[in-house]
Amino acid sequence: MPHLEFGTAQPCPTPMKLRASNPESLQRAIAETGAVIKYRFPWWLRPFLLRGVAGITLGRRIYIEGANPESILRHELVHVRQIQRLGLVRFYWTYIREYAANLRGGLSSAEAYRRISLEEEAFAAECREIL
Ligand SMILES: [Zn+2]
Repeated sequence: MPHLEFGTAQPCPTPMKLRASNPESLQRAIAETGAVIKYRFPWWLRPFLLRGVAGITLGRRIYIEGANPESILRHELVHVRQIQRLGLVRFYWTYIREYAANLRGGLSSAEAYRRISLEEEAFAAECREIL
């Protein structure tokens, strides 16, 4: 079950922009998680992709495309860590349960997605220096 990332990463606010670019921290997070990074989506997934998908995480494999690849990479690395921490079943269970609860609470689908605790943690990492 792939984890799809919708929308494009927003540019970080100016003071955070410079701090966010920390290749050593990024390399360390990649090494620690054992993540495999691909800068194109796989051809066999393309027919299933909706418009606006910016990143896909399949276990430890991360596919990214589009603008702000570093922000998306930081975001997806957080999901790889979450999956390693929680296990695949708990990750998706938490994800779907919170998304459904947010929708029931009256949020739009875009807002319901951003308010999932696993997403809030990943969005916060996009502009943080140390992953
Ligand atoms: Zn995400």
